Amino acid sequence: MSDKITIAIDGYSSCGKSTLARELAKILHYVFIDSGAMYRGVTLFALRSGCIANRELNRGKLISKLGSIELKFVLNPETKSPELLLNGENVEYAIRTPEISSFVSDVAAIKEVRTKLVAEQQLMGKNGGIVMDGRDIGSVVFPSAELKLFITAEIDTRVERRFQELIFRGTPTTKEEVRENLLRRDHIDSTRTESPLTQTDDAIVIDNTHLSKIEQLQLANKYVERAISALA
Ligand code: C5P
Repeated sequence: MSDKITIAIDGYSSCGKSTLARELAKILHYVFIDSGAMYRGVTLFALRSGCIANRELNRGKLISKLGSIELKFVLNPETKSPELLLNGENVEYAIRTPEISSFVSDVAAIKEVRTKLVAEQQLMGKNGGIVMDGRDIGSVVFPSAELKLFITAEIDTRVERRFQELIFRGTPTTKEEVRENLLRRDHIDSTRTESPLTQTDDAIVIDNTHLSKIEQLQLANKYVERAISALA
């Protein structure tokens, strides 16, 4: 029996879920999938194909074009991290802008978008050995995951981390803009009808407000070891 488990990591925006998932996958030699990147990829497609015009999302138009969106991950040989390809183009940088962040939760609330992406995510994880982070991973994508983590952090900490990340990348923004976007996305993500952000009963909560990245990784790794030994 394979001892490669499925690890589902969920939580609010900018809680450090992807950072944790990426690092865990590296030490475990698992596949890492940032499911948020896929919703961001569809949002970039929507912007480029005129499904978002005058700051309005045309849901019907986007739904009719979903068949022409191909999302794939490729490993960056230098960083050893997966990067998103949208119809063959590497868009890892283009999907991280404030403009994409301002529309992504509206795109992610569309049922047809979720049906497509959830099916693709389930396919990627069908053999286990995967760490996936998002909002509905433990509840919808992998409800039988052997380990489910739910990550939280205080809002001021999340704003500060996201602000520093954007400034580091040279993206002009303010803390107020960042806070507004995080709160808006949290609200849409947790109140939408289609698979809202949920903390499942079997998820272990990690509040990383006062944890360093390495402390959080060590803690999560303990839970991984426990989940793997429970399989034996
Ligand atoms: O994780 P990230 O913040 O990059 O995700 C961007 C957006 O994608 C979230 O705000 C949410 O609206 C959507 N998302 C989702 N379900 C997931 C992952 C992300 O609805 N599994």
